Amino acid sequence: MIRIGRYLPETRAEGPGKRFAIWVQGCELHCPGCFATELQPRTGGVLVPVSGLIERIEAVKTGICGVTFLGGEPFLQASALTRIANAAHGMGLSVLCFTGYTMEWLLKNGDADQKALLGAVDLLIDGPYREELRSFRRPLVGSENQRFRYLTERITPEEIQAYRNSIECRIGPDGVLQLNGMGDFTMLAERLRSAAKEVL
Ligand code: SF4
Repeated sequence: MIRIGRYLPETRAEGPGKRFAIWVQGCELHCPGCFATELQPRTGGVLVPVSGLIERIEAVKTGICGVTFLGGEPFLQASALTRIANAAHGMGLSVLCFTGYTMEWLLKNGDADQKALLGAVDLLIDGPYREELRSFRRPLVGSENQRFRYLTERITPEEIQAYRNSIECRIGPDGVLQLNGMGDFTMLAERLRSAAKEVL
């Protein structure tokens, strides 16, 4: 089983190409200014079978080029995500994973499951969000300390350099607005509020 906040079968805002994105639930780093505080509690979200998520990836595999793990903290559920990463590779998909830990910390202090996940990831984007270093200058990251660790050749530096940050906006059948991607969410929320005022 894996505890997740949500997933999207197809998004262009969480890495190069169209990707299946999984937001895991639970993070203990509590970075000041965290943009996903709802994903911090380890008891929130929903518990789902790993096999069910793999089936969902399988169902869309011909239309996507990879999967992205983000959160929350993926390395707190390393064993489940390693299974998903290995299954994704078996489908010819790349694996991009965000983590608030540094790769050095994981290599030195990580348990066997966390090291196995490191071995199953193609591109690791590592390091905690640091509000004083906030910047959207680079693709996919929100603070200057975060780094790109190309662990295989499935995702290349050239692909990341060509990538442009974007924010996707979805309105569910229940009217709930869902945002994902990288950029200034505060500015977007203000623009949406003023657009809504104009319509009403
Ligand atoms: S690592 Fe990410 S999810 Fe965890 S507290 Fe920091 S910003 Fe939030």
